[in-house]
Amino acid sequence: MGLSKTIWTNPTEYLRNQQPENPVLFFAPQAVQAVARKFLDGFPGLVTYAVKSNPGEEVIENLIAAGVKGFDCASPFEIDLIRRLAPDAAIHYNNPVRSRSEIAHAVARNVKSYSVDSHSELAKLIEMVPVENCEISVRFKLPVAGAAYNFGAKFGATEDVAVELLKTVAAAGYIASITFHPGTQCTDPAAWASYIREAAVIAQRAGVKIARLNVGGGFPNHRAVGVEPQLEATFATIDRVATEAFGAERPLLICEPGRAMCGDAFTLAARVKAVRDDMHVFLNDGVYGSLFELGQIGIIDRIAVISPEGVRRTGAILPRICFGPTCDSVDRLPGDVPFPADIAEGDFVIVHGMGAYSTVTNSRFNGFGELGMVTVLSQKL
Ligand SMILES: *Cc1c(COP(=O)(O)O)cnc(C)c1O
Repeated sequence: MGLSKTIWTNPTEYLRNQQPENPVLFFAPQAVQAVARKFLDGFPGLVTYAVKSNPGEEVIENLIAAGVKGFDCASPFEIDLIRRLAPDAAIHYNNPVRSRSEIAHAVARNVKSYSVDSHSELAKLIEMVPVENCEISVRFKLPVAGAAYNFGAKFGATEDVAVELLKTVAAAGYIASITFHPGTQCTDPAAWASYIREAAVIAQRAGVKIARLNVGGGFPNHRAVGVEPQLEATFATIDRVATEAFGAERPLLICEPGRAMCGDAFTLAARVKAVRDDMHVFLNDGVYGSLFELGQIGIIDRIAVISPEGVRRTGAILPRICFGPTCDSVDRLPGDVPFPADIAEGDFVIVHGMGAYSTVTNSRFNGFGELGMVTVLSQKL
């Protein structure tokens, strides 16, 4: 994919001059640095970055430049990436299911923090991970709403199991901590409040004073017109409830945002291949490409359409069915997409907030998915 060396003023300037036939992601380095500083200044604890949301080196390097010193990794690949780009950074291996060879890989690279949500996986860690200065965080789940989809369906122990796991972690001599993930694109700060209160119940029932509480990722990025992420309000809720719930035993806090950190730093330009019989819009990108996640968690409506000359289409909004380029009929954006009525073949469809779960989930199915990457000073069209 490779980032081009030239820096363009904004997406429109590039599109007008280059007329790209493949989709392009525009990266604004100062946007990722600005949101990193928002977390570093506002979050009441350690800020780590969930690498899986966008492992692009340009993202990681800008986060490091902004002062991020910790990374949540889920695989040997991500661990090696961070060790190469930030040799001294803290790595938290928070994928609660790992093969023995993956555990050995992490131990050999001096990873000192692991999460766990089951007795069998904890037994593997106890067998293989040296105790010294090493943290094991027990991950629990709650049936709370607020997120775009439910992470608890796969990971997280129930309260009773979490209590037993925490006791075992402490008895084995590891630094005992707790972690949770409220679910991605979680727009309701009250979800964090419920989880933090439950974490205090688990610690109290286990009789373990926890060192750290990792409040997960899940912080939203800007996907809907008029619904801006309320990061400061969420930080304030987390801070207040941590003190209320734990009192004098308040643990150090950690967060591990992915989406919120990288999502708004990228803008996608896909090209209109055809407007078929005035009904269906066919793009050169779709749910098998960088728009994969829209099929999972819903449409981003921060969309604009510009002509090949770079002029914004301003026709009345006319919802259309929008297909991607592959021959598969599920390659369709969810619901109806709000396009201006004068959208035409050759136009560029601009989708904002496309940095998370886009480059990484691009499948290249059917031979599509070649994606350009361009640095811009500003994402304003
Ligand atoms: C995916 C993931 C994250 C990041 O989630 P976002 O919703 O992108 O913030 C953080 N922690 C863990 C353990 C994850 O699996």
